[in-house]
Amino acid sequence: MIYERVIRPEMARKINHMLGKIPQGIRQIVEFKYGAKIYICTRNYRGSFFTGEDYDIESRLDDPDLLTLAHFSPPERAIFMYDFSIEEVERNQILAYDPFLHEYGHALDFALGEISCHELYEYCHQRGLDWYGNLNVYECFAEAFATYFLKPPENYKPRHWFEHLPTGLKQQNPVLFTFFKSLEE
Ligand SMILES: [Zn+2]
Repeated sequence: MIYERVIRPEMARKINHMLGKIPQGIRQIVEFKYGAKIYICTRNYRGSFFTGEDYDIESRLDDPDLLTLAHFSPPERAIFMYDFSIEEVERNQILAYDPFLHEYGHALDFALGEISCHELYEYCHQRGLDWYGNLNVYECFAEAFATYFLKPPENYKPRHWFEHLPTGLKQQNPVLFTFFKSLEE
């Protein structure tokens, strides 16, 4: 993975660890063919923005009450991880599920030609695991990706509304579950 503007080396190390959870076939598509890169930067450096169907990330980043830790920018083919301590976030249980994996899911979606809007539209539209995944097809795909690849330890119980287990994905969205499974092989 190509890193840019790394202001937190420990975050890069943590991300390398997370990348280990992603099958090589997917990494070939996202990193080598599509050329996705990752910025670990301050919020001042945002690059350009992608606005989903009905969701404006620019206004969300400006909202101090909302904690935006990361986003994906299709024009730059870049995952932006903002300046936060992953350890602190995990300690405070603000976000136990993995924001990096979610953004990587967006990168995969675009690397596959926005498959969430085309081949998988029917299964991404209003079939997220929660309201966030139901915002639009992109969020559904990214949430489902993170859920599938987070691979929590056995007997792990979700602590927050936004945490889900692969078994939940299998029940709620079996087509996406099977799709990710096929990419693993
Ligand atoms: Zn997202």
